[in-house]
Parts: sequence; C-alpha cells; structure tokens
Amino acid sequence: MSSLSKSPWIFHYDASSCNGCDIEVLACLTPIYDVERFGIVNTGNPKHADIFLITGSVNEQNKEVIQNLYNQMADPKVVVAVGICATSGGIFAECYNVMGGADKIVPVDVYVPGCAARPEAIIDGVVRALGVLEEKRKRIKEIAAGQVTATIERASLDDAEKILELQKIAYRSEAELYNDFSIEPLTQSLDEIKADFATRTFLKAVIDGNIVGAVRGYMKGTACRIERLFVAPGSQNQGIGTRLMREIEATFPESETYDLFTGNRSKRNIFLVKKLNYKISRTEKVNKRVERVYLQKAGQNRG
Ligand code: SF4
Repeated sequence: MSSLSKSPWIFHYDASSCNGCDIEVLACLTPIYDVERFGIVNTGNPKHADIFLITGSVNEQNKEVIQNLYNQMADPKVVVAVGICATSGGIFAECYNVMGGADKIVPVDVYVPGCAARPEAIIDGVVRALGVLEEKRKRIKEIAAGQVTATIERASLDDAEKILELQKIAYRSEAELYNDFSIEPLTQSLDEIKADFATRTFLKAVIDGNIVGAVRGYMKGTACRIERLFVAPGSQNQGIGTRLMREIEATFPESETYDLFTGNRSKRNIFLVKKLNYKISRTEKVNKRVERVYLQKAGQNRG
C-alpha cells in the first residue's frame, strides 16, 4: 500500500482556462517530463482519482460541475489549483461572470501559481499534494479507529450551504435504493433549507471543523418531528447517527412522542432507530416503488 501512496491518480478539469495551463499539464505527460514513470496516472474518472487538478477560473457555468466532480471523488482527496486563474481568477477576476479561483467552490489544498504554470511547478504541486494526501489518509484512519470523536452542536444559518451539500451526498445512496433521484433531500434548494432554519432546530456533527452529519427537528402539537438524519459516507459506523438522534430528542424534552419516517428499503435507518426504541406506527405507499415507514417513540412527558 505504501507504493500506492506515491502513485496518485489525477483527474484534470479545465474550468475555463485559456488552454495555456492545460497544455502545460499535458506537457507533464510527454516524454520530456513523463510523470507516468513515477506512477502518476491521468484518469478520466473522478471516482478513481486521488488528486483533483483544476485549471481556469470558476464561473456560473462551471461551479456546479466542479462541485459535482469533487463530490464524486472518494476520501481522502486533494485539490490542486493550477495557474493564476485557478488560484484567484487571474486576469479574468474582474469579469462579470467570474467568481474567482477554485477555492470559491471546493477546498483547495495546494496552489500552483504561474501564467501559464510551468510543468516543473505543476509536478512540484502534485508532490506537495502527496504529502497532504498522506496526512488526510492518517486522519481518516484515526477517525475510523475511534481516536477522534465528533462534537454535536446546534447549527446556524451559516451552516445551511454545507449541510445542504452534505445532505445531497448522503442521500444519493438512498435515491439509488429506490432508483428515484427526485426525492426531496436531493432537490431541496439553498433558499428552502434556509427557510427551514426559521421553523426547525438543526444539529450538526463536527470533526476537525468539518460538518460530517446533521439532523433537524421541530414541535408539532405535543410531538417532536425528527427529519433528515444523515452522516457523511466516510464517517458512518462510528455512532454519530445515534448521538445526533439522542441529542435532538434531548433538545425537545417536552415532547410526548418523537416521530419520524423513512423509506421501506432504508434498512440501515430502520435498524438504527429501532435500536433507540422506536416502533413502527404505520406505513404509507407513496408510489409504485416507495413505501414510507413511520416510526414513533414515547417521550418522557407521555402521560
Ligand atoms: S493562468 Fe494564464 S495560461 Fe493558465 S489558464 Fe489562466 S490565463 Fe491561461
């Protein structure tokens, strides 16, 4: 495995480059530099990549593409911004449609300046990215070994965008279960989730300053409705979901019952809440593929 850490797979995305930096990226693969001899492979699939190499600046047209590609990469992953356009927007920074560098959309770990960035600088950036990748790999092992625990905190409106982003990643597997990608957690807009903050209490699980899970709840009559419990794929099986559930229940001690629902094929969710003493109260057919399972648990205030 140690040899693999030195042979990263790179996914290159041309955001809106003038192609100057892209030509230099390709030059890294030509016989003069020949980075493949070190095991560095340029892949066309973000799911296979360790390093996300971005050239060009971010604009309204490509911001969602960059986010989507980033989300598809498995952890640990490192983002390298190549060229002054990707690092800050460069000479296009003042353009009406340019938002700036890649870090406006995804967390950038390594900046490679230059216009165009020289192949030597790009290779140096990739070597620096290897160090970052190794650090992230170690951290993930520590988290998986339970050496780092998440803190559960009240989320604020400032967290809305991050929670929505994570919600869309977490609910992808749910959508795949039902082959239905029109489910609400995937289609919710930023304005809608911001509006939810006015009526619901949001809790977030945080590790190293990053949100890795969330849940929300609100009172309806004498019952507490719990919604959208999710944990990031890389942070599952560490008890974070259970802790979020316990904490949201404790946030509404006056509740007579705690109510939630999930899909009939979401066995993991049903298993988790049943462990917390929730019982199935009813089921409801939503469409041909989906049946909702409603679960309920008595609160301390139940007479
Ligand atoms: S940094 Fe220079 S060469 Fe690279 S994409 Fe921007 S303008 Fe082109």
